[in-house]
Amino acid sequence: MSFLERQLDANILTTNLDAFVGWARKSSLWPMTFGLACCAIEMIASVSSRYDIDRFGAGVFRASPRQSDLMIVAGTVSRKMAPVIRRIYDQMAEPRYVISMGSCATSGNHYNSYAVVQGVDQIVPVDVYIAGCPPRPEALLDGLLKLQEKIQREKIFVK
Ligand code: SF4
Repeated sequence: MSFLERQLDANILTTNLDAFVGWARKSSLWPMTFGLACCAIEMIASVSSRYDIDRFGAGVFRASPRQSDLMIVAGTVSRKMAPVIRRIYDQMAEPRYVISMGSCATSGNHYNSYAVVQGVDQIVPVDVYIAGCPPRPEALLDGLLKLQEKIQREKIFVK
């Protein structure tokens, strides 16, 4: 049996499974209802018929972290809120993903203060960062597509 045939026997099914699971995961994201400041208004607008985030399989926002696998951190992260964000993240279903929406969530923005966390990635792992103050809904949709590309590339069966 040639090298190629051996590779096909060993990997072709699992490779297809990876592609299928990646497609299924990226097409069915469950964001959490979770806004911290003004960026949340743009996140809410992305659900409206004008922007229609539901086109990308991520339109059903849930009020419970246990029913969610996508946290969109939209707004300023205060020090008081930080442990709550971590606890909510820990309660989310796995595999779970985080989008940092806007300059405040990503870097603290103009709130260079003892009271504000200078980047939510100090608390939870972030998959996609979106720039802007605030980012428009189109930017959130673009970030969502980037996250979906990342999910599609994940290897579960073939390492
Ligand atoms: Fe508000 Fe701008 Fe901060 Fe978003 S980035 S929460 S719009 S101040």
